[in-house]
Amino acid sequence: MAKRSGKRKRSSKTAQTKIISLVCGLLVIAAIVIFGGAELEGTGSSNPLASQITDEHAFSVHVIDIGQGDAILLSKDDTYALIDAGETMSPSDRESRTAIFAYLDSLDIDRLEFLLITHQDYDHIGSAKDVLSTYDVGTFYDNGVEHTSATYEKLMTYISEENVTYSIVREGDQIESPWTDVTIEIISPPQDLIMTGSSPDINENSIVLNITYGEVSFILAGDAGEKAEEYIISTGTSIDAEILKAGHHGSSGSSTDAFLEAVSPNVIVMSVGADNDYGHPHLETLTRFAQYTENIYRTDLDGDVIITTDGSEYSVITENEHIAENILVSGNGVSV
Ligand SMILES: [Zn+2]
Repeated sequence: MAKRSGKRKRSSKTAQTKIISLVCGLLVIAAIVIFGGAELEGTGSSNPLASQITDEHAFSVHVIDIGQGDAILLSKDDTYALIDAGETMSPSDRESRTAIFAYLDSLDIDRLEFLLITHQDYDHIGSAKDVLSTYDVGTFYDNGVEHTSATYEKLMTYISEENVTYSIVREGDQIESPWTDVTIEIISPPQDLIMTGSSPDINENSIVLNITYGEVSFILAGDAGEKAEEYIISTGTSIDAEILKAGHHGSSGSSTDAFLEAVSPNVIVMSVGADNDYGHPHLETLTRFAQYTENIYRTDLDGDVIITTDGSEYSVITENEHIAENILVSGNGVSV
């Protein structure tokens, strides 16, 4: 755009103005070269939320509103990775699929350094195969729990047939961060998994991530519940973090007092579908959240939510106007 308008101006101006225009044009080109994708993300993207990110080197976590499910985009310096690619269970609601692709396309993304699925439930993997076939994906990560759903089996078949780089990760395993200054640590599930009877518990074995940029940490809890939280605390690892993506869509089986105390978040964000069948977020969970912070966000009300940080400060950008008084109302319509 800048180059095109520059040409039109030069054709009708004096020689002096031509030089000024040329210099300006060169500065614009130099700025684009120097700042690369950050410049595109800051001003040139068609994503109205991301265009509000002012720090060109910010690390941002985008909790995409896909309804009742998870899709969380990580971005920094025009480099991207995706945690979960869910789709709502309801066959009548196909908006969740559209939401992920529309969001990624609005940022002109054609490559994801990795796609990590936290666990095998449909609301976290429903669009995973399509993401792999649509974008250039560096590595696919999951927890390696065997699962016999048709969706997961098709996903695994695709990964095998297309030779997608696939890596199973659990606590203590390394995940290669696409950004040298961002650390991505896996703090659950344990290597020998969390069992319910003789079977691995699907939700409790969610991959839980502790992501840190500078002094700002994020805990992304997948659908992990009480057992996983207990395990994480028992390992003694530090999970003190500024931002918590709460487990299991604000279910009462997640985000125990002990876990919230260990994380002591300043910002809590939930991915939750409007009028979902589960009554998420549950009243008990919201009551617990309210003891720790007033900064609570949920995708059913706020729409897409971006938490963006320069490594010391952070801010939250929401698609819809954030109305704090509406946040502490459960999925069943009961107010805290
Ligand atoms: Zn879920």
